[in-house]
Amino acid sequence: MSRKKPEDRRVVRTRRTVIYTFLLILIFMYISAHSQLEQERAAASENKAGSESVLPRGQAEQSAPGEAGPAQEAEALVLEPEDMWCLILTNAQYPVPEDYFPELKEIPGQGQSVDERIYDPLMDMLSDMEERGLSPLICSGYRTLDKQEMLFNRKVSAYVKQGYSMEEANQLARRILSIPGSGEHCLGLAVDIYSDSYRTLESGFADTKEGKWLREHCWEYGFILRYDQGKEELTGIDYEPWHFRYVGKKAAEYLKQTGMCLEEFYFEESLYG
Ligand SMILES: [Zn+2]
Repeated sequence: MSRKKPEDRRVVRTRRTVIYTFLLILIFMYISAHSQLEQERAAASENKAGSESVLPRGQAEQSAPGEAGPAQEAEALVLEPEDMWCLILTNAQYPVPEDYFPELKEIPGQGQSVDERIYDPLMDMLSDMEERGLSPLICSGYRTLDKQEMLFNRKVSAYVKQGYSMEEANQLARRILSIPGSGEHCLGLAVDIYSDSYRTLESGFADTKEGKWLREHCWEYGFILRYDQGKEELTGIDYEPWHFRYVGKKAAEYLKQTGMCLEEFYFEESLYG
């Protein structure tokens, strides 16, 4: 082995120093670049987390139409205090309060009045029917409690004349007329509608163009077919395809969707006092 000259050793040391320095610089550059990358990643992930907590709500609002179907179906009806005036219930168990006197408004040319608060939706419904070539006629609107009682007693007398006992006559009458002290017509929130070509309150009205249209569309104006087929046990009144009751658009739409009558709705919404 030949010994290296001192100059050669210096050169070798210098080369090593340069190489080490260069390697150190490379390591330092790598570490610094890596830590910067980490910082950027952390910042990006913070932004993402921050935006995630806000975006879904914004997106949910914007994308609501796409999700409206199932969301609406599942949505329970939320009743506000201002929805309640037209949801008042009267039937054989729930009389109309004796001091209940609605502000009335007369329906032009029909000789009938209704609670002034349902005048506009009722007129909208009638004029939309007329635009479609239908001929609805309001044959009964607001009735006083006295008139309701007079109609009931007259019906009972008619049955007695046919040979029924007083008790039987009473039972028969209450299936088709609200008993004295009750009655939706006394609220001013109900109307009986027949048509120009079918001027009688018989179940056949259901098969007229007017009867069919009303059953299908009355909810759009806030009305319900109050005494429907299959609900007789619950309402206490026989099927009346001509009797429409205002309950407000929100409740009418809900009742149409669920197929409930007002008594069932009262039970579901815990409205019974
Ligand atoms: Zn009626």
